[in-house]
Amino acid sequence: MQVRMRELEDRIQRVKTELSGLGVFCNGSLSRQWNVCGKPGCACKGERPKKHGPYFQLSFTRNGKSSSSFVRRKDVPIVQQQVRIYARFRTLMDRWITLSNALATLQTKESRP
Ligand SMILES: [Zn+2]
Repeated sequence: MQVRMRELEDRIQRVKTELSGLGVFCNGSLSRQWNVCGKPGCACKGERPKKHGPYFQLSFTRNGKSSSSFVRRKDVPIVQQQVRIYARFRTLMDRWITLSNALATLQTKESRP
C-alpha cells in the first residue's frame, strides 16, 4: 500500500512540475471562416461563389458566456500554440484528478482499523 501511495505521489509531482512549466494558454478553439459581402456583382455571390477568406476566428466559452474574435493571420501560429497548451493543461489536470482520487481512496483505506 505504501509503495502504491508513493508511486501515485510521484506521478502527481510530475504532473505538477509539467503544469508549472506550461506557457500562456487560451481556452478557445480556432476556426476558419469564409464570408459573403454585400457588394453587388462580387465574385463571392457568383454562380460559382468565391467567398472571402479564410478569416480566422477564436471562439470560447467562459462561465457560460460564449464569445469570439477575429485573429490576424500573423497571429494564427501563436494562437494555435495557446490553444494547444490549453489542451495539454486539461489533459494534465484530468490526470491529476484521476491520480488524486486513487490516492484519496488509498489514504482512507489506510486509516481504517
Ligand atoms: Zn464579396
